Amino acid sequence: MEKIKIAIQKSGRLSEKSLELLTECGIKVSNGNRKLRTEARNFPMEILFLRDDDIPQYVEQGVADIGILGENEVWEKDKEVDMIEKLGFGNCRLSLAIPKDEEYTGLDYFNGKRIATSYPKILHKYFQVKGIEVKIEELGGSVEIATGIGLADAIFDIVSTGSTLLMNGLKEAEAIIKSEAVLIGNKNLSPAKTELLDRLLFRIKAYKNGQGKKYVLLNARNEVIPDIVKLLPGMRSPSILPLNDEGWSSVHSVISDDDFWDIIDELKRHGAEGILVVPIEKMIL
Ligand code: ATP
Ligand code: ZN
Repeated sequence: MEKIKIAIQKSGRLSEKSLELLTECGIKVSNGNRKLRTEARNFPMEILFLRDDDIPQYVEQGVADIGILGENEVWEKDKEVDMIEKLGFGNCRLSLAIPKDEEYTGLDYFNGKRIATSYPKILHKYFQVKGIEVKIEELGGSVEIATGIGLADAIFDIVSTGSTLLMNGLKEAEAIIKSEAVLIGNKNLSPAKTELLDRLLFRIKAYKNGQGKKYVLLNARNEVIPDIVKLLPGMRSPSILPLNDEGWSSVHSVISDDDFWDIIDELKRHGAEGILVVPIEKMIL
């Protein structure tokens, strides 16, 4: 039976989350993290552990069929691969940063400046479109020290909280693009592999849909049910089931974490009782 080959980061910020995603999709990977490759126990899948930088090329060539890595790396490598699905983790942004005592006057500030980065392609395109001339110093890593050692006037790098910048006497001047982990795929997958990819994707979406949501069950008197239903969006509309107690019903619905407490407060105010909140593991729409 044909197997789908997935490339994930061997060791780094995306490794754990990538494996966790597979686990959430019910795919058991025997933890051979140190090995270069391993097989899933209950899904026709082979897992390749690679440096994230190499994943786009391997997927383009078909050494791996699909891969998980940051969008930033996909854009920089600019290979012929399909962006299949955003995965909702590994969020960060690529930003221009300058020494903290400099006065930032807008993008023109960078005119003629030397900028150190591991993302020369993205940076070059960005300034080309803006019509601003900059000198790009390509570095493999430790970009944040480039201004301190006099290699560059500014840097273009990944920022998540900004604490690394601060530690190196820098401040964020301009956030250029946002990035998160994505699933990419080879452009010429066989029908058998496409089917495996679809099965995986179905599970990934079910997992993603459940993220950030809660299942709510509550009881209320029938006369307040219309008010309560208005407060609950649900997938289509809430389910309403009669209780054994005459005049009472139970309402079931899905609410998002963002407005969770506000909705709960309102529900109570409108007479909801016995409110039960449960996490959602998967949601198939
Ligand atoms: P590799 O050895 O695989 O080349 P790396 O050093 O290039 O690893 P990591 O630092 O592990 O990469 O980051 C992998 C990806 O995680 C980044 O490309 C980015 O998409 C994402 N990421 C999310 N938050 C951050 C962050 N705060 N710093 C760096 N990367 C982050
Ligand atoms: Zn890398």
